[in-house]
Amino acid sequence: MSLIEFKISVPTDNGYLGRECNSPSCKKYFKVHSGSIKSEMHCPYCGMEFSNNELHTQDQVGFLEESGKELATAYAHAEINKMLGNFAKQFSGNKFIKMTHTPSNFQPEEVKPQYSEHKVDSELSCPECGFLFQVFGIFGYCPGCSSENMLIYDANISIIRKEITDASDKARALRHAYADLVTTFENFCTKKAADIPAKSPSFQDIFEARRFFKVSKSIDILEGFSIADNLCARRIFQKRHVQQHAAGIINEKYIRKIPEDANLLGMNVELSESEFEDGCLVIRRAVGILAGGRLN
Ligand SMILES: [Zn+2]
Ligand SMILES: [Zn+2]
Repeated sequence: MSLIEFKISVPTDNGYLGRECNSPSCKKYFKVHSGSIKSEMHCPYCGMEFSNNELHTQDQVGFLEESGKELATAYAHAEINKMLGNFAKQFSGNKFIKMTHTPSNFQPEEVKPQYSEHKVDSELSCPECGFLFQVFGIFGYCPGCSSENMLIYDANISIIRKEITDASDKARALRHAYADLVTTFENFCTKKAADIPAKSPSFQDIFEARRFFKVSKSIDILEGFSIADNLCARRIFQKRHVQQHAAGIINEKYIRKIPEDANLLGMNVELSESEFEDGCLVIRRAVGILAGGRLN
C-alpha cells in the first residue's frame, strides 16, 4: 500500500501561527512566526518540549480533518473513475460484457477555516536565537531555545507593567501584578532546580528558595540584600500569599513573617505600584544571582 500525502497548510495571522501546548496541565495558547517554526519547540509557559505537529490548536485540528476528508474523497473518486474507465476500454470489443461508466465529477470543496487566531498581548523576539513569538501574559521560556536569561525576567516585567497601565481596574491589575511577579520568580527557580535531584520546595516563598539553593548549589540568592530589600521581598511574597489564600486580609501568619507590620493585623492588605516597582528590582537581583551573576 502506498502512502498518500496531502499537503494542507493552516492559515496564519500576519505570519504568526497559533499553537497550543499539548501538556494536559497547561494547554495554553501562544503564537510562533512561520519563519521561526522548528520541528521541536518548547511551550513558552510550562517549558515542555513537543514536536510542531503536536501543537495544533483544536480549531486547526478541525480544519485539517475537514480539508483532509475533502481531498481524500476527491482522490478516491478520481481513482475509481480511472479504474472503471480502464475496464470500459478493456471490454469495449467484447459482446458478452457490456460496461457503461459514467464518471463521477466530484469536485472537492475548498474548506475555509471557520476560526481566526486569537489576539495575544506581547510580541517577542528571543535575543539568544532570534525566535519570534507571541504570548498571553507572562511566560518562562523561549519556544526556540528555552534559554534562561535576565531578558526573560525583564520581558515579563514589561508585560506586567503594560497590564497595569492598560487596566481599567487598577486594584485588580495590581493584585495580578504581585502574583505574576512571584510566578516569574517561581518559573526561574523551577528551571534552575531542574537538574537538582533533591525535591524542590515551594518557590512561592523566597526564603524557602534561598534555603534550597544554598544547600544544593551553595548560592545565596539574597546575598548583599539590605534590611530594606529583605523587607520589600517579604512584603511582595506575603502580600501575594494573603491575596491568594486569605481574601486579602492580613492574618497572624503574615505578621509572623513580617512583624514590622504587626499594627496591620486584620486589615486589608495594601498594594502599590511603587512597592511593586521596588519588588521588581529586588527580586531581579535574586534572579540574577541565581542565573549565574548575569546582572546585565
Ligand atoms: Zn505548556
Ligand atoms: Zn531563543
